[in-house]
Amino acid sequence: MIVYELGCANRHRFEGWFTSRDDFKRQLEGKLLTCPLCGDGVIERLPHVSYVNTGAPGAAVKAQPEPPQQYANLGAEVLAKLIDHIIETTDDVGAAFPEEARKIHYGEIDERRIRGTASVRDIDALQEEGIDVAALPIPAHRLGKSH
Ligand SMILES: [Zn+2]
Repeated sequence: MIVYELGCANRHRFEGWFTSRDDFKRQLEGKLLTCPLCGDGVIERLPHVSYVNTGAPGAAVKAQPEPPQQYANLGAEVLAKLIDHIIETTDDVGAAFPEEARKIHYGEIDERRIRGTASVRDIDALQEEGIDVAALPIPAHRLGKSH
């Protein structure tokens, strides 16, 4: 799974999730990509890639109290929409996140996009194993499960 930072003609920035580089090219050339925030179809890959999720077949994400740097340019309304989008397209595994991310990485369970919480130590351990974890600006009260 690869995560690219993408932008639309209205200067929205958002992430695109692809199974491979070729998958991204195919979707881009087939004009299958649209901005999740405004529906614009003119999408380009932004030169600055904040993270690339090549390690884990299932995208591993964690919640963070403060929006990370790559979202700092988004207004509150756009950010709220982005968070909605992430919540709709990922499966909340709560505090089981590190364990689930490993199972996906090692192929023990089917690949899927997950979100959840993890300690800084857990994140370090996951990254040492080659499982890349993306920090997301999801406030704790939006995570769903209690942690
Ligand atoms: Zn847009």
